[in-house]
Amino acid sequence: MTSRDIENVDVVIVGAGLAGASLATALANAGMTVSIFDSKPAPTWDIASYDSRVSAINLASQNIFMALGAWPEICEKRVSPFVGIEAWDERSKGKICFHATDNGLIRLGHVIENSVIATTLHGLLEKRNNAQVYFSTKIERLSFTSEKVVVTTSSGHSLQASLLVGADGAASKVRDFTDIDFIHHEYEQIAITAHVATEKSHEQLAYQRFLSKGPLALLPLSDGRCSIVWSANSQLAKDLNNLSDEAFIGHLEQSSEQRLGTIKSVTPRQEFTLTYGHAKRYFDNRIVLIGDAAHTIHPLAGLGANQGMLDAAMLAEMLIDSREKTNDLGDPMILHRYQRRRQADNGITLRTLNGLYRLFGNNSRLVVNIRGFGLDFTNQVIPIKRALVRKAAGLAGDLPDIARSNLSRH
Ligand SMILES: Cc1cc2nc3c(=O)[nH]c(=O)nc-3n(C[C@H](O)[C@H](O)[C@H](O)COP(=O)(O)OP(=O)(O)OC[C@H]3O[C@@H](n4cnc5c(N)ncnc54)[C@H](O)[C@@H]3O)c2cc1C
Repeated sequence: MTSRDIENVDVVIVGAGLAGASLATALANAGMTVSIFDSKPAPTWDIASYDSRVSAINLASQNIFMALGAWPEICEKRVSPFVGIEAWDERSKGKICFHATDNGLIRLGHVIENSVIATTLHGLLEKRNNAQVYFSTKIERLSFTSEKVVVTTSSGHSLQASLLVGADGAASKVRDFTDIDFIHHEYEQIAITAHVATEKSHEQLAYQRFLSKGPLALLPLSDGRCSIVWSANSQLAKDLNNLSDEAFIGHLEQSSEQRLGTIKSVTPRQEFTLTYGHAKRYFDNRIVLIGDAAHTIHPLAGLGANQGMLDAAMLAEMLIDSREKTNDLGDPMILHRYQRRRQADNGITLRTLNGLYRLFGNNSRLVVNIRGFGLDFTNQVIPIKRALVRKAAGLAGDLPDIARSNLSRH
């Protein structure tokens, strides 16, 4: 192959999920040339059927979608705002409630189908002539020159870029092309997801009960149903998944203490093995990691996608700012700045969630009493509650500029 056959772009991104597609849109909007690949076929979204995968998207991610020009179409397709969170513990009976209005906000975030976000971002990219999106395509080979990374895809296509971004999820193949250590382990839990129709209205609240064998969350959907994420130890999850719908509903009613009354129906269940992982470095040579490729966490606080969105926004901001000063987007100085800002913030979130996972997984009497007291105490201390809400909503912490803008609109 001659150098004439090799396409030249500023940035190649592997993985067109939430993080990769957001980064591609931000760079393309700023005039950079971007190629993005995904090993799966293009996702579709259909108004007639609710996607089984949804994410609680916080206000920082909403700000990013606004800045990317994706928010109006996301809202036009379908979003479900949530205004508060109620969480309670099975063992200690401790309880905590957060409400948007207590924090001067209209809402805390939105529950959005993953396919709504993905199809909207892919649609925006396809309209631009400086962005190429390739589905059903993997990376076969990588090589480096002093100034470029050269990528050969499974369709025989070759490209060279200053920077290659690994946004290909928890089992990142791009990460395997690097010397980056990925500290990881499986949680001893599996998450079961489904949508359920409930007797009582969810009132735009998200519910979470900390059961002794793992947390059960009910997230409000715009058609009145709830999306459940039930994380349970592996044996219980397998047993629950083998139950008939009727028997599963019985367990769900009992485990949710019928907080939303009886359960009328349940959609087919899906299961996800839950893993923890954090990359020791976020870049190596001309490769940089974002989203689940850099860090994966338990979904108990619904933060994985939101952290990945912050990675995408921060990296975009640094690449766009640096373009004026350097011709080399793979400059280690830029990538080091990105790593410093995002690794620290993600590290705090990962450690906090791991702590919560252990705290609520420990059923010794002493720990149960302490966490019951802790939940009730925190529930009464308004400044602590406000700080927690601000962090979870993405209004606090080391945020990229585009995640901060438009805060007054919430
Ligand atoms: C049950 C559950 C519930 C969750 N709920 C929430 C929530 O409410 N809020 C929240 O913020 N987070 C939530 N998360 C976490 C969230 O889903 C992830 O953090 C998020 O999807 C990560 O986005 P990503 O773009 O980094 O990776 P992914 O979404 O995994 O996307 C990676 C993309 O790369 C592609 N790919 C993979 N391998 C290759 C390859 N070799 N070549 C090319 N392409 C490849 C994949 O096809 C995929 O499109 C939840 C997770 C689970 C399991």
